[in-house]
Amino acid sequence: MSRVKVGINGYGTIGKRIADAIRLQPDIELVGVVKTKPDYASIVAKMNGINIYVPENYLKKFEEKGVNPSGTIEDLLSKIDIIIDATPGGTGVTYKQLYDKYNVKAVFQGGEKPEVADLSFNTLCNYEEALGKNSLRVVSCNTTALLRTLCTLKNISKIRKVRATIVRRAADPKEIKKGPINAIVPNPSTIPSHHALDVKTVLDVDIITMAVIVPTTLMHLHTVYVELESSVTRNDIEELFADTPRILLVDPSIGLKSTAELIELARDLGRKRNDIPELLVWQDSIETRGTEVMWMHAVHQESIVVPENIDAIRAVAQLAYKAEETIELTDKTLKILHGRLAS
Ligand code: NAD
Repeated sequence: MSRVKVGINGYGTIGKRIADAIRLQPDIELVGVVKTKPDYASIVAKMNGINIYVPENYLKKFEEKGVNPSGTIEDLLSKIDIIIDATPGGTGVTYKQLYDKYNVKAVFQGGEKPEVADLSFNTLCNYEEALGKNSLRVVSCNTTALLRTLCTLKNISKIRKVRATIVRRAADPKEIKKGPINAIVPNPSTIPSHHALDVKTVLDVDIITMAVIVPTTLMHLHTVYVELESSVTRNDIEELFADTPRILLVDPSIGLKSTAELIELARDLGRKRNDIPELLVWQDSIETRGTEVMWMHAVHQESIVVPENIDAIRAVAQLAYKAEETIELTDKTLKILHGRLAS
């Protein structure tokens, strides 16, 4: 079977993780990645057998550092079917014309405005709608987390409204110039925060979010309140989340009381880069009162969107016609867990 050929533009936090995930897929081939700096990440990528492509005027800069590129970004685009754009937020749109010129389909990330792509995407919400599109935008880490739960909940009852607080990590671990380092900052101070608007690009629901930034790099944490049309029990929600791919229920009584312990869990599981692409719901935080449902979950911002990017490739290339098909393959190859964390 010939594999669909994919390139990645932007090899940072998200790009390098998608590159590794692609290399585990039987139906997708990573042709190369675009780098703009001849830094340690370029050297490590080369050591791992990943081909580097650069903007033409950067060729010399890379060669001087001993990183010999395989060609220019245009060379890469002429060899591939799909580009994953993982450049910094707002940069992807500047490449759109170039992607179109080379007739490659594009998967953008959540830092871009929704208009960049034909459809904002989450596998559990709108996989079938994404089939064969020219471009998709995988929504942000916070939005992906909210949508995994909301698109699951709407399978058991119509949702009347959602109110959520987003406790955001200040920076990713490698970022040395961002903060705060000793403050809690309401951000953005407008209500709803942009996360609610982003959810609405995929799911038509009454949602208001408020966000604060806290001095941590490990994970985000959300507290979520949902009002449904039908009454449910705590057990209904626990069973529903336990049955949903990419959602893992964690138990505070076995020492998983904080994001720090969740990251330690990822280390103990031998997860590469301590990644946790699953959404982690604290089992004991699930509460119901008739039609009201509440819970808390933790979001590993650096990795949660990786499986959705793999599914987005399958959707635009029409490699799988049903969400369940791509989820099964992605989750098996990436060893993604669901259910309850138990021995
Ligand atoms: P990053 O800064 O870690 O990586 C971006 C990479 O692109 C870097 O290697 C940078 O050198 C490179 N780059 C910069 N300008 C470029 C250009 N003009 N052309 C090609 N490459 C260029 O950023 P990131 O955190 O990986 O974010 C990428 C996208 O993913 C953004 O849209 C962001 O909003 C989204 N996202 C980020 C996270 C997260 O927590 N980091 C989570 C979900 C989604």
